[in-house]
Amino acid sequence: MDSCIFCKIANHEIPGKIIYEDDICMAFLDLSQTTDGHTLVIPKKHFAHILEVDSQTLAHMMEVVQKVALQIEKQLHAKGFNVLTNMNEIAGQTVHHFHIHIIPRYSDQDGYQ
Ligand code: 5GP
Ligand code: ZN
Repeated sequence: MDSCIFCKIANHEIPGKIIYEDDICMAFLDLSQTTDGHTLVIPKKHFAHILEVDSQTLAHMMEVVQKVALQIEKQLHAKGFNVLTNMNEIAGQTVHHFHIHIIPRYSDQDGYQ
């Protein structure tokens, strides 16, 4: 997908604050930083959303979610996480390249509802 921003990050065509990368997927900091350390895990191959991605890639991505969350817990002392994906505009999806949000939580007043 030529115009897809996450394909461009995956191909290193535009910069991202990458915190994990392998042949299948990549984790990088979300621009918005909803909370400190807010991270996105994406497949390198373009899939629009969770119902398009193949189960092998999805399983691998979830392993990476776990690895990255553990790293954030240790480094940033997060007390918990919201792990989620939005599918289609009606659910709030704005970038149509499948991604999983890892949103660290620090207190019940960290600004994320
Ligand atoms: P969605 O709303 O589709 O679930 O989430 C898209 C996320 O991508 C948003 O949290 C937004 O901040 C993030 N985002 C959009 N464009 C960029 C970008 O160019 N770089 C990074 N690192 N994050 C982006
Ligand atoms: Zn893409």
